[in-house]
Amino acid sequence: MYEGVNASEGIGIGTVVVAVEPDLSFEPHSVEDTDAEKARYKAALDVFCEKTQAQADRMKVTVGENEAEIMSGHIMLAQDPGLVDGISTAIDGGMCAEQALVETATMFENMFLSMDDEMFRLRAADIADIRTGILAELLGREVVDLSVLPAGSIVVVHDLTPSMTATIDKENVAGIVTEVGGRTSHSAIIARALEIPAVLSVPNACGALLNGMTAVVDGINGHVIPDPDEAMLSDYRERAEAFAAEKRALEAYRGKPTVTADGDKKTLACNIGNPEDAKGAVDHDCEAIGLFRSEFLFMDATSLPSEEEQFEAYRKVAVTLKGAPVIIRTLDVGGDKEIPYMKLQKEENPFMGYRAVRYCLDNPDEYKVQLRALLRASAFGDIKIMVPLVTCVEELRQVKELVEQCKTELREEGYKFDENIEVGIMMETAAAANIADILAKEAAFFSIGTNDLTGYTMASDRGNDKVAYLYSWYYPAVLRAIKNIIVNGVKEGIMVGMCGEAAADPLLTPLLISWGMEEFSVSAPSVLKTRKAISQWSKADADALEAEVMQLTTAEEVKAALEGAAR
Ligand code: PEP
Ligand code: MG
Repeated sequence: MYEGVNASEGIGIGTVVVAVEPDLSFEPHSVEDTDAEKARYKAALDVFCEKTQAQADRMKVTVGENEAEIMSGHIMLAQDPGLVDGISTAIDGGMCAEQALVETATMFENMFLSMDDEMFRLRAADIADIRTGILAELLGREVVDLSVLPAGSIVVVHDLTPSMTATIDKENVAGIVTEVGGRTSHSAIIARALEIPAVLSVPNACGALLNGMTAVVDGINGHVIPDPDEAMLSDYRERAEAFAAEKRALEAYRGKPTVTADGDKKTLACNIGNPEDAKGAVDHDCEAIGLFRSEFLFMDATSLPSEEEQFEAYRKVAVTLKGAPVIIRTLDVGGDKEIPYMKLQKEENPFMGYRAVRYCLDNPDEYKVQLRALLRASAFGDIKIMVPLVTCVEELRQVKELVEQCKTELREEGYKFDENIEVGIMMETAAAANIADILAKEAAFFSIGTNDLTGYTMASDRGNDKVAYLYSWYYPAVLRAIKNIIVNGVKEGIMVGMCGEAAADPLLTPLLISWGMEEFSVSAPSVLKTRKAISQWSKADADALEAEVMQLTTAEEVKAALEGAAR
């Protein structure tokens, strides 16, 4: 058995097809007629863009609009002036088009790879994909085409690029195995959207798995089983059937209200990273947006997005949600979220440094651009402003003061906006959890960010393997922090939600119900699963379990008790 990253759930059983990547080697040579060489590059670029557009159009139908945007993004990236000018300058210097492309694109790829943030590593993969596509055009070679595979194929490939994924015929591919890539790579995102089981980052998969061999791709546990015997095959067939049955059963929760077993209404919201995600969230049956991470708008740009650009993005989400609540978090820069053009200084301890609301309040003119855009967009739907990384009430007061200044300006300029726009906060620091009673008196709502709250409470960096065992919300310290936040918010009568990953953990659901949490904000594919988890618990049952669990002293005991009670 080989182990890898479980990137797309499900169990695929089929026949291995190792996809061989084309030979894109060439002899670098110097050119004299640089204009002709630039025209040759332009022609290859145009064909690449045409083919990519055709793939995007096909994907819109076969996979979905959001995923098609990844391909449209490739066209924009290929036509990016930075890349195009760089290649042109290299050709002017006498380089052949192939070499100019490879050197310039590789320079951009390395630049993105050197950044810590996941988003930029995705960008690096996109650049590499574009480089392969245009180079294949220049050399007249075909890139891997996965649209003509026999039914029941297990595709094994070094790296499944977004453009390869776009050619996949979902009906014929039972599973995907790659040698590189993580859970958040674009390929993983597309594999999940196609609902094809995928295990990524299996070392030497292309050498170990042979054409024609039977294999099982267990995308739930991240296992690949080559040449399974009859007993294993029948075991996996049963597991595949159980997985499919569970998915079919979840469909019963589509279009239904989110209620506890005793009829208490909750809100099931989605987390999104860009305006395009909003449609996917609605398609997955969400009732609101509980977190729009606005920093992705800033990360996807090469300079600060203007008020107009931000306004358009926020308005689009508000309109897509047709009046349902949309919580937009103001810029959460710093820590693990680097935005290169903002040129923040390197810090010894960036997670405790100059970031999020701290940066924004220190740069009020920049912050006001975002607040004005949010206010203007509030005329088109139910937008709420959320402040990240709050540690003291002074920060909330200062933000509210800036919001009032922006309102005055916009009123004078004749803009419409929601006069009563709510300003709430992310509860994601140990400090905020400790003063939840104070903050609840001045914040319009709380949203618990367990991703950071767990790290700050346990003083454990989840990126550090050596201390990862401490990064768990089953520790009594984290549970008490969450409880304190919810109980104090409820006492003050404000809405309390959770937008960290813990909101989608069904083991925690009874505790959150017991404490009175109102909104669960999860990733789009977790909507139905979370609605089901909520429907399993009445307040009385949840309270009984809470009383038992909160007596326990270790994370292991807590998890075991929650697992024992799971429904
Ligand atoms: C969180 O910290 O839980 C959260 C939702 O924010 P992010 O993951 O963007 O830091
Ligand atoms: Mg956070």
